[in-house]
Amino acid sequence: MASEAETAYELFIGGREAPSASGERRTLTDPATGEPVATVSFGSRDDARAALEAADRAFRESNWASDDGARRARALAKLAALLEARAEVFARLETRNVGKPLREARGDIAYVVRTLEYFSGLADKVEGETIPVPGPRFDYTVREPLGVTVHIAPWNYPLLLAVRSVAPALAAGNSVVLKPASLTPLTAVAFARLAREAGIPDGILNVVPGSGRDVGEALVDDPRCRSVTFTGSGEVGPRIAELAARRLVPVTLELGGKGPVLVFPDADLERAAKAIGYGIFGNAGQMCWAASRLLVHESIRPALLDRIRRIAEGLKVGPGLEDGVEMGPLVSQEQADRVLDYVEIARSDGGTVVTGGGRPPDARLSAGHFVQPTVLADVPPGSRAVREEIFGPVLAVASFAEPDEAIAAANATTYGLLAALWTRDLATAHSVARRLEAGMVVVNEAPTTFPQSPFAGVKGSGLGFEQGARALEPYARRKNVLVHLGSPKRS
Ligand code: NAP
Ligand code: MG
Repeated sequence: MASEAETAYELFIGGREAPSASGERRTLTDPATGEPVATVSFGSRDDARAALEAADRAFRESNWASDDGARRARALAKLAALLEARAEVFARLETRNVGKPLREARGDIAYVVRTLEYFSGLADKVEGETIPVPGPRFDYTVREPLGVTVHIAPWNYPLLLAVRSVAPALAAGNSVVLKPASLTPLTAVAFARLAREAGIPDGILNVVPGSGRDVGEALVDDPRCRSVTFTGSGEVGPRIAELAARRLVPVTLELGGKGPVLVFPDADLERAAKAIGYGIFGNAGQMCWAASRLLVHESIRPALLDRIRRIAEGLKVGPGLEDGVEMGPLVSQEQADRVLDYVEIARSDGGTVVTGGGRPPDARLSAGHFVQPTVLADVPPGSRAVREEIFGPVLAVASFAEPDEAIAAANATTYGLLAALWTRDLATAHSVARRLEAGMVVVNEAPTTFPQSPFAGVKGSGLGFEQGARALEPYARRKNVLVHLGSPKRS
């Protein structure tokens, strides 16, 4: 059981916790203070192979796949209930590991619970179909799990983004090997323990902390791996797809974004400002679907910008566990430096820093990886600060005069994850939503999703989709069975 006092985490393979083959351990530090949080066994290629072996054996020898789906449904529902009962411990662990405010971490864990419940409800509904064909024949499909599915997760929502794909894979009867991000493996290991408690057979859920280059690639580049679900950067995603393509293994890629927010003159500015604040300062901007480019109609620009500036300047920045904190540190010094580099790029390309743009002056925060909530204005569209994903609390503001101009600017990116738009006019809402190159559009809403809604990116933001009832598809392939019925026997 995960407890806060606990400080040592191991690999979780075949239902057992064990150190890595090499014996390597890493110390994880609190991004807000630099203090040690826990140590974790750090896996290598050998451990990746051991996990694939355990998963493959469990898939063949346990009855997880062959049993009635109702059994998997019950196990996933029990897992949801166990997690809900320990939600506070998990949320605190996530906050200490990632840095996010406890309120947000609680939201993450509640979302994981809901995801497990949702896919639990689908585990006994993996249905095939019958197909009319000519002659005395019976044609039908059955849905079958693939075998071992590999899941590689990033550090920004460690447990949430892992379970988003692990839950449907398990529901469909696969066995799973999960590689969490090197920086944030703790809740994934704690989760595997709960899965054992929930009655998921040993070897069906394995967790191997370790580097992407070693553990990640060894998991993907192995004949036992039958599918890969990767959530992470646009640099690594295509590399995974290449490795998988060599063996014709299907991939789902959930990559980055550079989300536009279009605000039309009739928008509710008060609500829009709050939502825009959440969409870029939530999780300190470390969100794939962050609303990082504001495109505002020139007539309302001063009013909206003023509201957003006040929100940015009023945010309580500090350690995520502290009461009332609204924005935590970035996950690592490397990320904080990267974000500040982009602010410099914006400045030197001719943009203006409306607010923020540096580290907070508060000396109490100097040991953490904090960056101020930052708003940039009029950065030229060609600047890297406008084109590339910053993955931090940095909003770039530009204005438009005509809707066509706003739509063209919104689409002028290699990404296409989430786009937001604000208007009270129904025709504008639907017609602009249609023209935005994005996997998801929110209207008069902050970035929001539910386990039952598809989550997807287009263009450089990804391949395939997650969430929703169809999310089982990649984990339950169709087999077609055609039976010739012969001629009826005479009696
Ligand atoms: P990342 O560097 O791509 O890493 C993601 C995961 O892949 C980590 O577990 C990483 O391991 C692993 N990895 C790295 N190189 C690998 C390789 N060669 N082979 C196999 N695995 C490898 O991304 P990140 O820096 O953790 O996360 C930030 C990115 O994720 C952002 O671009 C963000 O937009 C994206 N993201 C997308 C979504 C979405 O749903 N679309 C959601 C959240 C985040 P290590 O930790 O050892 O590097
Ligand atoms: Mg990375």
